[in-house]
Amino acid sequence: MRLVVLAGDGIGPEITAATLAVLRAADARFGLKLDLAELPAGVACLAETGTTIPEATAAAVRAADGLVMGPMDTYAYAGQKGAQYGGGALNPSGFFRRNLDLYGNIRPARTYPGLRSPTGAEFDLVIVRENTEGFYADRNMEQGNAEILVTPEVVVSMRRITRLCCDRIAASAFKLAQRRRRHVTAVHKANVLTKGDGMFLASCRAEAEKHPGVAYDEVIVDAMAAHLVRTPQKYDVIVTTNMFGDILSDLAIELSGSLGLGGSINAGERFCMAQASHGSAPDIAGQDRANPASLVLSAAMLLGWQAEQGGSSANAFAAAAGAIEAAVAQVIQAGDCTADVGGRLGTAAMGQALAARIGAA
Ligand code: NAD
Repeated sequence: MRLVVLAGDGIGPEITAATLAVLRAADARFGLKLDLAELPAGVACLAETGTTIPEATAAAVRAADGLVMGPMDTYAYAGQKGAQYGGGALNPSGFFRRNLDLYGNIRPARTYPGLRSPTGAEFDLVIVRENTEGFYADRNMEQGNAEILVTPEVVVSMRRITRLCCDRIAASAFKLAQRRRRHVTAVHKANVLTKGDGMFLASCRAEAEKHPGVAYDEVIVDAMAAHLVRTPQKYDVIVTTNMFGDILSDLAIELSGSLGLGGSINAGERFCMAQASHGSAPDIAGQDRANPASLVLSAAMLLGWQAEQGGSSANAFAAAAGAIEAAVAQVIQAGDCTADVGGRLGTAAMGQALAARIGAA
């Protein structure tokens, strides 16, 4: 499996180094034959070359089987700050999600033995977030950006919702629910966004009709924020549009113990990108404090996605994904982890603890 690795900005290089240590340990144990190519992207690249995504990096990603991407400090060059860089100040997340059509952002949030959730409840849920349209102005127009400065005092930000994207994200959620506890909750704002979220709900209801064995309900997004804090254990698979999913997933992951546990993949029909749910955490960058579990779990999900594609190595990829997830739970329970989840280790040492467990098992 040929993987491109982009370390990202802020804490990105630290958590990516830990993730590479884990992937190499998994490769050695399970014989995955990973070909890991580390390439430049992000803020440092922008300063040096005038673009966050050099053409050689984009071409290598297109030719690869998957991508592991560290968090990018997109706000450092967004909008007016980025104007000096012109068209080179691209958001790598948006760029790859859109150009590789990675429509499903799968963000699990679960509690771990030995780590108390702020809610006091034990839970295990997955947020399935549409990733290619919605309120994300950089990816919902054929040309240009969907935020328009009408006058110096007036801005219009447009949200795009299409039947295709609603249908395919709803189908992904029900497919996932069939492998889990068979419950899908659609989160929306159809009381206000009657047409866009009305279309999204129509797609979810059509999938619910096709899956009578999967329980289905709907919750308005503002109430969902409260329900997640109050009773996260009630939910299994939550499907929603782009921005609602972005916000609710940070909430759910923090409720599991730390944003540093937020693994996620961005998956399309033929390509998958592993990417932590959180950002580049400039407040703790360079301090060896960031929890690498987010990107490590993302990489495990990427191996799991590869297993689902079938082929002669599917069992090895599935076993590697399972071993990495088990190792994360073990280091948390043993306290061999970073301070945000109750341990005393730094980022690099937690990566080594994870790699050692995978190699030794
Ligand atoms: P953030 O997610 O980077 O940080 C929020 C809080 O969570 C901070 O206190 C941070 O220290 C903490 N945190 C995040 N990851 C952690 C980890 N692994 N271990 C321990 N603590 C962790 O949000 P922000 O500060 O608003 O954003 C910083 C930058 O990241 C911005 O430029 C933003 O645009 C960008 N961003 C990028 C992505 C991405 O690349 N996918 C996602 C979100 C934000």
